Amino acid sequence: MDNAEVDLFVIGGGSGGVRAARIASGHGARVAIAEQSRYGGTCVIRGCVPKKLFVIASRFRDAFDEAEGFGWRVEAHFDWPTLRAAKDREVGRLEAIYRRNLQASGVEVIDARAVLEDETTVHLPASDRRVRARHILIATGGRPVKPAYPGAELACTSDDLFDMPELPSSMLIEGGGFIAVEFGCLMQRLGVRVTLVYRGDRILRGFDDDLRQHVAEAMTRDGIDIVTSDTVRAIEADGAGLTVHLAGGTTRHVDRVLAATGRAPNVDGLGLERAGVATGPRGAIRVGPDSSTSRSTVWAVGDVTDRLALTPVAIREGHAFADTVFGQRPWICDHENVPAAVFGTPEIGTVGLTEQAARARHGEIDVYRTRFRPMSNVLARVPAPMLMKLVVARATQVVVGVHLCGPDAAEMIQLAGIAVNAGLTKMQFDRTVAVHPTAAEELVTLRTPS
Ligand code: NDP
Repeated sequence: MDNAEVDLFVIGGGSGGVRAARIASGHGARVAIAEQSRYGGTCVIRGCVPKKLFVIASRFRDAFDEAEGFGWRVEAHFDWPTLRAAKDREVGRLEAIYRRNLQASGVEVIDARAVLEDETTVHLPASDRRVRARHILIATGGRPVKPAYPGAELACTSDDLFDMPELPSSMLIEGGGFIAVEFGCLMQRLGVRVTLVYRGDRILRGFDDDLRQHVAEAMTRDGIDIVTSDTVRAIEADGAGLTVHLAGGTTRHVDRVLAATGRAPNVDGLGLERAGVATGPRGAIRVGPDSSTSRSTVWAVGDVTDRLALTPVAIREGHAFADTVFGQRPWICDHENVPAAVFGTPEIGTVGLTEQAARARHGEIDVYRTRFRPMSNVLARVPAPMLMKLVVARATQVVVGVHLCGPDAAEMIQLAGIAVNAGLTKMQFDRTVAVHPTAAEELVTLRTPS
């Protein structure tokens, strides 16, 4: 298209959109990006980053408790406004870096909502400006969704938790996924009484069954009330707080309810129909492996495509798109063997196939499993064990899954992920000399399948 103002217009300044814009610009493309909220998107503003800061804050409680076993006497007090303000400063700092990096890459940075007018025109309603683009990338992310029941408007979502003026004394969390587990554990450590209500019989569906059981046991031991096979039927304001009616017939009185019941792609009012961009279940933009949509000029990456809703995946998808379309370096983001972490306490690190999935794919498998008390827990007299599990395809002896739960599991799984992606065998794991004394050494000293 000869009369295009830009080669690429990116809608959405989160992880995927920003990476794509910067890489495309580096390849010589004329790029503009529009963001209606704050640069950095879910991850930086109301997701991974502030959540991890809260997780770190919450774990000081364990550290203070455990310190006594090592000879320390600690008197600790927690101040929520101090943490919130520190979090705000850090999020602001990172947001500014995102913006600066875009500008330094030569990208036109627009602070406004943008929608599609057709497959090569973006409309900015606030200024009524229209921009013609050779390519348009949709990277608008996702948003939390709440189930429909009477009083659902009284439930908050994870978006609201980051800026609560004060900590509630009790909270009911509905859901059993990433956000329910992470916020359940961190809120409980910050002094909130937590009840978790999950519709299935075991939280963290889709994770390895041993991990699911291990985490549920640990959360229960830490005082979180986990109610399974139940859902919220209705919420009523009761003056001092909220009365939550569960479908099973019981009620709970709490200060806050968090709906951690999943997220949906941000496509409302985006003009996808006008541009002829096809969507699938839950409104997700349908894409091919190269992030192409049903229109040759429109592309989509990240949570709006509902593939794997993880920041590093969105970043890769954005990078691959920009290299492919503007850099003459075609590649696609592989969605297999993506390492992931759930920052509950205990922490989960996982990569590859669960035991169940490995059995289905490979038939005969060997499972190596160990549960032990990490060294730091012994003097501290903390009963929490650590779980480590390797899943090995018997015929090839390739390690097809690694599942960890306990301190630093997220750090360890990044490295185990390299081994699993490289297709290493159990013997190659065993050939590596252990680093002693560590918890990670168990990964190379597991001798006998269970
Ligand atoms: P998840 O999909 O992980 O979990 C949603 C939970 O809500 C599930 O337990 C689901 O049950 C339950 N649920 C869904 N609908 C209903 C309903 N109508 N009534 C009752 N329960 C319901 O979503 P999250 O919101 O926790 O997180 C969204 C995504 O964000 C994650 O999937 C992940 O990709 C990403 N994320 C990643 C993090 C990380 O990397 N550490 C941290 C936070 C989020 P069921 O299991 O039965 O379907």
